[in-house]
Amino acid sequence: MSEPVIDLHSDDYFMGEALRQARTAFDAGEVPVGAVIVRDGRIIARAHNQVELLKDATAHAEMLALTQAQEVVGDWRLTDCTLYVTKEPCPMCAGAIVHTRIARVVFGTADPKAGAAGSAMNLLQFPSLNHKCDITGGVREAECKMLLQEFFAAQRLADKQGRTQKTDSGEDVPINGERTGLPPRPG
Ligand code: ZN
Repeated sequence: MSEPVIDLHSDDYFMGEALRQARTAFDAGEVPVGAVIVRDGRIIARAHNQVELLKDATAHAEMLALTQAQEVVGDWRLTDCTLYVTKEPCPMCAGAIVHTRIARVVFGTADPKAGAAGSAMNLLQFPSLNHKCDITGGVREAECKMLLQEFFAAQRLADKQGRTQKTDSGEDVPINGERTGLPPRPG
């Protein structure tokens, strides 16, 4: 009689681990993006966005995970690794992913404005670069997207309340819902 096999190699499972990282970021007031790197069916790096904590715009989940993985592997080449990330990598992270020669990138929710894995641009499969990654998008997309939406909704509400408190004239000053003219926060 064969035992049921838990498929620890499935994309859903590893994206679940990336989602745990994203929730840790959420709880810390960081844009909720998480990443894990898998080699031979084993997680060798886990990281979440730490831009605010480290006051470092380059401290995206993928960048921190890549550094960890390179330390574990003992090489800058991560040719037999898969990176799971809850949001489509930005151009900076995609550039780093190509430099480390990650074999495959799996992401949750796409980023139409800045995604560099095929949405706004495709740096992971850029014709003239000497390394190209396999890409799988949309894994546990709804959960990954929901977390980001919740975060930004809460942030907008906090901004609005902050502005209301600063209004000491006693008048009910209307506030525009969106912060116009400001770029989105880094993720
Ligand atoms: Zn990034």
